[in-house]
Amino acid sequence: MQKTLKSIAGEVGGTLLGSISDKTMLAQGVSTDTRSLYPNQLYVPILGDRFDGHDFLSDAVKKGAVAALWQEDRALPSSPSIPLIRVKDTLEALQQLAAAWRREIGVKVVAVTGSNGKTTTKELLGSILSVKYRVHRTQGNLNNHIGLPLTLLSMPRKSEVAVVEMGMNHAGEIALLSQIAKPDLAVITNIGEAHIEHLGSRQGIADAKLEICEGLAQQGTLVIDGDEPLLRERLVKEKRRYIRVGWKEDNDDVLQGFATEGLEGISFTTSLTGSRFTLPMMGQYNAKNALLAITVGRTLGLTEEELQQGLNQVHITGMRLEKVTATNGMLIINDAYNASPSSMRATIDLLSSLDGFKEKWVLLGDMLEMGPEEEAYHREVGRFAMEKGISRVYAMGARGRWIVDGAQEVAPEGKAIHFQNPEEAAQTLLAEGNEGVVLLVKASRGARLETTVEHILKGA
Ligand code: ATP
Ligand code: MG
Repeated sequence: MQKTLKSIAGEVGGTLLGSISDKTMLAQGVSTDTRSLYPNQLYVPILGDRFDGHDFLSDAVKKGAVAALWQEDRALPSSPSIPLIRVKDTLEALQQLAAAWRREIGVKVVAVTGSNGKTTTKELLGSILSVKYRVHRTQGNLNNHIGLPLTLLSMPRKSEVAVVEMGMNHAGEIALLSQIAKPDLAVITNIGEAHIEHLGSRQGIADAKLEICEGLAQQGTLVIDGDEPLLRERLVKEKRRYIRVGWKEDNDDVLQGFATEGLEGISFTTSLTGSRFTLPMMGQYNAKNALLAITVGRTLGLTEEELQQGLNQVHITGMRLEKVTATNGMLIINDAYNASPSSMRATIDLLSSLDGFKEKWVLLGDMLEMGPEEEAYHREVGRFAMEKGISRVYAMGARGRWIVDGAQEVAPEGKAIHFQNPEEAAQTLLAEGNEGVVLLVKASRGARLETTVEHILKGA
């Protein structure tokens, strides 16, 4: 964003406190965190649970902030050395600024929500659409009520397409994000059980994702996981243009001829055009993520060749199916970024489909925010792994014990074990693993299972 303080004040209904000349000063971008603030940015102090951003004004000044917003119920600093814009609520003002910048630039916005696969699909979309357009996309996982506005505000004026991720924990959150971003195209990757604690049921989760329609352009298109009945039922009632993709035969575009290309990736055909695509990413679930992105790409005018070119360029990092080899030769597939029952099942399926290993093991950890049924969900994952031919189920964490319990219902003696701490896990896995073994590591972010991976890689 690049704007004068006067127009910023106008857009957020605020009052500029300062001299006349301040009005023409330009803010180049926005920051809510003084640690990463760049010179000439507008500082937006946010009231958090633990910190109040207003307490860090002097840091913002030192870093070269051109001005700051200031919430009216906070005491004004006695002699601020930068202009302040007084507003009712700084968070709302941030969101208003983002909405205004989005309107001003006039980009096409593609929004991605869903229980699993949002970041992956966002990256696939970013890669694909970059073949034809100047694309701005969400950095990392900045997908909430603060991250989404910041994503929009960091969008260069020349952007042609913005690909934004929308995450949520509670009902109403996606509606707000959608109103801010006003998508032209929206994608719902899937419905799982994540955050069921707050949403009551899978139907509750589906409804929360469908809130993405609230800001969707009247002529906009929704691209959905067509294998999910809960989404389809609602959409039939709503008069919305939508495209269903997935494995089931009655989808508008059907995934066919799926094949794994070892550890290199996957390939599949789409029924709509008969084109065969290859993707340098493992996991059957990524075929659907890719088809969602391909569908958006086609809607925005990319050719099949351009789509494949985009898929070739995709690069997903950060504990999402990251492959590393331990000193004992064991291959570790680190997926410790996140977990819920649906993503656990999807990734265990992937592991079980791999060829060329004598044994397949999992090291799993707690899935968080699973509500009153959490024990059943964990037990079911343990059972599922055993039923899928995983030869050893290791788990950690308080809830991880249930995973082991579930596995033990069907496992032979000694094949399902609970570890007390990362050191113990690393010792056993290093002593017993070898080059014939592939180990999948997966848990919720909060379980910090990557610490165990670090221990294994360090050699204990
Ligand atoms: P978050 O809510 O943390 O932002 P996300 O929705 O962005 O998560 P990703 O980071 O893309 O999801 O993927 C996280 C994990 O979800 C993957 O490592 C994989 O295990 C699983 N996953 C990805 N896509 C799907 C899918 N289509 N169906 C089921 N599971 C999936
Ligand atoms: Mg994400």
